[in-house]
Amino acid sequence: MQAIAVSWGSGWFLALVGFVCQSGILCAQDHHSFARPQDHRIRHLELDLVVDFDKKILTGLVTLDLIGGLETRTPLSLNTLTLDTRDLDIQKVVGLTKNGESIILPFELGPKDKILGQPLVIRLPKPGLRVRVEYATTTRSQALQWLKPEQTAGKKYPYLFTQSQAIDARSWIPLQDTPNIRFTYKARIKTRANLLAVMSANNPLEKNSKGEYVFEMPQPIPSYLMALAVGDIAFQKISSRTGVYAEPGVLAKAALEFSDMEKMVKACETLYGPYQWGRYDVLIMPTSFPFGGMENPRLTFVSPTVLAGDKSLVSLLAHELAHSWSGNLVTNATWDDFWLNEGFTVYLERRIMEEVYGRERALMESVLGKKGLLAELKSLPKEAQSLQLKLKGRSPSEGLTDIPYEKGALFLTHLEGIVGRPKLDAFLKKFFHEYEFQSLTTADFESFLNRNLFLSNPKAIQNAQIREWLYDPGLPTGAPDPNSPRLTQLAALANRFVSGLITAGDLKAKDWTSQEWLQFLGALPPKMLLQRMNDLDSTWHLTQTGNSEILCVWLLLCIRSDYGPAFGRLEAFLTDQGRRKFLKSLYEELVKTGPGKARALAIYAKTRSGYHHAITETIDAILGYKP
Ligand SMILES: [Zn+2]
Repeated sequence: MQAIAVSWGSGWFLALVGFVCQSGILCAQDHHSFARPQDHRIRHLELDLVVDFDKKILTGLVTLDLIGGLETRTPLSLNTLTLDTRDLDIQKVVGLTKNGESIILPFELGPKDKILGQPLVIRLPKPGLRVRVEYATTTRSQALQWLKPEQTAGKKYPYLFTQSQAIDARSWIPLQDTPNIRFTYKARIKTRANLLAVMSANNPLEKNSKGEYVFEMPQPIPSYLMALAVGDIAFQKISSRTGVYAEPGVLAKAALEFSDMEKMVKACETLYGPYQWGRYDVLIMPTSFPFGGMENPRLTFVSPTVLAGDKSLVSLLAHELAHSWSGNLVTNATWDDFWLNEGFTVYLERRIMEEVYGRERALMESVLGKKGLLAELKSLPKEAQSLQLKLKGRSPSEGLTDIPYEKGALFLTHLEGIVGRPKLDAFLKKFFHEYEFQSLTTADFESFLNRNLFLSNPKAIQNAQIREWLYDPGLPTGAPDPNSPRLTQLAALANRFVSGLITAGDLKAKDWTSQEWLQFLGALPPKMLLQRMNDLDSTWHLTQTGNSEILCVWLLLCIRSDYGPAFGRLEAFLTDQGRRKFLKSLYEELVKTGPGKARALAIYAKTRSGYHHAITETIDAILGYKP
């Protein structure tokens, strides 16, 4: 059952409803959306937007094709369409009939909710109407980041990008913003002639003189995968169906780093069935992009911090590609079920890494993944530790912990251990095929699992054990314990270094991978003697490393050890890139001491305006900063 507030002049009241929303699956209640899928669902939308870099807004219209309506409405519902919005300027709503007539439709914006935004309630006088909303974004629209030229690699042109996941699509398009509803889309984007626009759709290969671009996404997607970027962007092909978009100065480096893209797509297809989205391209984002990557279909957005120069961080690409199956093809129905997107994807990512770069590399990443999970479990409250989350009344971003990612992947590894790899692979392939282009809850998955993996072999595992993984805190006993002999060796080496038995020069680390460095640095005590820090730094130049993952772990050690020579680089790293993962852990470490907090506040005061809002919310809270 779901309760929503509806009003027509006579005050807001509640309507209670329960419903079926897609074939065979009961529609999950999404407490992060005002939409009422039981009444209407968007099946196709058409966007027509102008990008105004001077005013920092998008203006134009969206036209929605709906299914449902008067024929299927429950008795208690009204002749209304409810859309999600946040910080939009809604100007006019028009109904379009099949005969080409247009009717002005009355609409009302409901009360503002801090997390959800505002419902846009539109009255529909008759069935079968297409609904057109004329609107503009505002400078508060959170999905949009408008960058000045100096915040880009080329420093000459402004840049705009969107980040819709989890519930920010509603801040640039009025729509039903829930992963429970899928639609196809077309778009027309008008921008300056010297800029290229790209979307999560089929994309242009080069700029045109009008600055006008048309897009089509023929596969149905949930709203959080709506994506747009506009800037001085060029394209370089990698294979017939893969390639890289980036600012011209970054393009060659990115194409080299991601030259294995086609191999990765093939590896995933062999395991889990055909890639369903046509092309697979990657867009290298400006440095302020707040995440490692975002799996926008057909065009993954990737942070430039993964361009290490030696492919050592390409597991991120494997991750975003894997989302083409887990997440984009089969989608979590609500943000409480986020592990269905992320746990599956981390598991798939490691399988791709194993296929393309070998077992040892994948094993090292699993070991480091579990280590991070165990560390995070120590500080997470019990209610945040189960795979199925309870995010009602809270922002979905609070679910961004290692639980959906690493505990989710560990659960699938556990299943692999029980039934064997061939059976689990067949099971996953069937899962992606049977539920393609649909959204599922954890309970739907549990039922599929019982029907398909354990019904024929009930002794293999009890349902109680499955439920413990899905709904209980912590890690069940018997959780997989991945082991990499190489990483064990490195931990021993770290011990010998700390006790002075060997020097930094004895490490022979010239060809160490990122994973080897992360293990070695992670195995050192939290605080190191300055003499050892100096030895490490002067021998292996860690303060100057171009590998963002190694740099972050090194800088954490520098903060704890009060190692002054790295503080300049620390400030530069906090200024030059805006990836949430790095900023969050560094600021959290800095605030632990008085001088560290003073340093953090001084840096933050200068850099805050360049960070994405997804970051400032988090860092404001860490620093107790009042903007
Ligand atoms: Zn992911």
